Amino acid sequence: MASNQDLQRLLDELGRLPGIGPKSAQRIAYHLLEADADEARRLAQAILDVKEHVHFCSRCFNYATADECPICMDSMRDRTRICVVGEPRDVTAIERTGSYHGLYHVLGGVISPMDKIGPEQLHIRELLMRLGEEDIQEVIIATNPNIEGETTASYLARTIKPLGVTVSRLASGLPVGGDLEYADELTLGRAIEARRAL
Ligand SMILES: [Zn+2]
Repeated sequence: MASNQDLQRLLDELGRLPGIGPKSAQRIAYHLLEADADEARRLAQAILDVKEHVHFCSRCFNYATADECPICMDSMRDRTRICVVGEPRDVTAIERTGSYHGLYHVLGGVISPMDKIGPEQLHIRELLMRLGEEDIQEVIIATNPNIEGETTASYLARTIKPLGVTVSRLASGLPVGGDLEYADELTLGRAIEARRAL
């Protein structure tokens, strides 16, 4: 039997997860206590596997289990376009729309002077290298529609445009100050289709 200490440890760990308050932590902990050992083991193993096998794509910094992610390795993708996003979860959000078939580049954050994150802390150098090496005609900037996202977008536009590459930004219609990952697929899909040149 789990001791109270074990249970408290599980509650503490669950409570550290994003979006899980004390009540949810309790609900999950009691569910796992009542679940059979196999279910608990599958969850624990899935967490360990993800930590062991998933790393960053060497080309675009999306999550990958091989050297490159499935999108970079997919020969059916439009390799003349790169969609630039802040985080890997934004790739998932845009993929869900089905409106985009090009490649991605994940910055690993956005420019945020308050958090001391400048262009050097992001994968911008690698993006510029890709623009030199790959046959890219358009860069679509899909950072979140908030202050940091806009700052990052205008920095990228200033840096990339002199290279002769078209730079565009998702159309408005996305909730200002919001997060890409919470936008519904229809809104986000339309924002991609109606992107405007910067
Ligand atoms: Zn990739």
